[in-house]
Amino acid sequence: MGAHVMMLSSLGHGHLIPFMQLAKKLVARGLTISFVTTFHHIPSLRSKAEAAREAGLDIHLLEMEIPHDHLTLGKVNSNSVQWHKLPPLLDADERLEPHFDRFLGRFLAREISPLPAPLCLIADFLLGWASAVAKKYGVPRVSFETSGCFAESVHQIVWEILPRNLPRTASGLYLVPGLPREVRLTRLQLLPELPEATPENGTHQYWLRVRPANRQSWRTIVNTFYELEGEFVDHYESVNGTLRTIGPLLPPEAFEYRDVQCKKIAPAVELGISTDGDKCMQWLDAQAEECVLYISFGSENSISTAQVEELALGLEASGVKFVWVLRTPSDAAQNSLTSPLDFLPVGLHGRMAAKDQGFFVLGWAPQLGILAHPATGGFISHCGWNAVLESTAMGVPLIAWPLYAEQHFNSKLVVDEIGVAVEAPQRIEQDWLVTRDDVKRIVRTLMIKEKGKELRKRMKELKAAAKTAVGEGGSSYKNFDLFVSEIMALPKA
Ligand code: UDP
Repeated sequence: MGAHVMMLSSLGHGHLIPFMQLAKKLVARGLTISFVTTFHHIPSLRSKAEAAREAGLDIHLLEMEIPHDHLTLGKVNSNSVQWHKLPPLLDADERLEPHFDRFLGRFLAREISPLPAPLCLIADFLLGWASAVAKKYGVPRVSFETSGCFAESVHQIVWEILPRNLPRTASGLYLVPGLPREVRLTRLQLLPELPEATPENGTHQYWLRVRPANRQSWRTIVNTFYELEGEFVDHYESVNGTLRTIGPLLPPEAFEYRDVQCKKIAPAVELGISTDGDKCMQWLDAQAEECVLYISFGSENSISTAQVEELALGLEASGVKFVWVLRTPSDAAQNSLTSPLDFLPVGLHGRMAAKDQGFFVLGWAPQLGILAHPATGGFISHCGWNAVLESTAMGVPLIAWPLYAEQHFNSKLVVDEIGVAVEAPQRIEQDWLVTRDDVKRIVRTLMIKEKGKELRKRMKELKAAAKTAVGEGGSSYKNFDLFVSEIMALPKA
């Protein structure tokens, strides 16, 4: 058995994927991993952990007991969150503290597993309290940032200072002070409640607790790479202490090819049932190179009924081929009798099939494989950080269509800072709607016009930089090496 490291992720779905990817990377270096989780995620993780163990990877899945009403995942839709209170997911993450405290105490007393005491605890950056709990038991804590440094730098200032205290330009833009470069935010790039938020705001108070607690970590690792946002890596480090960039954390084969082999690229964790995945890949096989637009708003979000209609009609009018991961709209009741297809404009599904213009995925999409497929030439994305890293690693330019919070900051990074995306024009006065005419225009801009070609060229440069970063001798490779050797040098309990 190798040296033992314990890992603990946030309850948020999206964080499990980079956590499991990191676990596999550490195990490949000879470490033993205990992956601590709650009943919410045991079903999605069990088969992956078992498969990893069968393949000789030393990953142990351990359940931390918590009350079954702790958080009902799936009912938390980010679109409907009220940020003046603490969002349910962040609140539930904070309330894990006493349960993990008890778990770690029992673990160290060998009541849970025969594994030895961990050399360190890698805990999600949303779990600020993990620093104090780990310290109580004499275990060094590593904070794992699953977001990028640009977005986190902006996020940190905006939530700490609050927009009402930020300087404004004559045209009303918010100026974010203290960054390496001037960053201006529009009203639309902030959450609806944020411009008016007062010091009583629950999310503001949460970040005032979490960031200083994270600064007590022994180490900080970030799922990004230096060549993508180096200035902001340096800035974030100067504010929050030494960090190591070790991303993009993706399966190694994701960097190897962009061809029909893409079918072999599986994510570290699947968080849903993939029913149409194989058919989708076959449909892509029949399409010309870089002519298909992939559309997904992430693992948890969905868009409104009105927006589904505008997007569908805009896509049809664009004439561009697409694969759309379609979910039940955010404002429709979840009902086992309805299919997400029922919310499309009448007849559209049939027309898309007859013209062979579009393919709808209703379950969990094989996103990595789709992005790696040679037919895929663009991505409408909500700009979750994993989506940004994945499209970068595959060289696919974006239409940035953020839905909330730091997704807007990721969108700003890809549109304004590194120039690999066009922005979906959301109309604040129309409930953030992007109209069908705007959809048609931006889709054609990305997939057909000269501008799209420029973005694709720039994205391919970044793809090469990502591959270099994780390859032998690259920035992330060296940082990961250093991180592993530092862990190995920690005293055994
Ligand atoms: N994902 C996927 N299939 C889906 C939806 C999502 O494979 O149908 C994966 C996607 O590849 C990414 C993650 O789920 O790795 C979503 O993370 P991201 O940060 O993009 O967004 P979030 O879901 O956390 O908002």
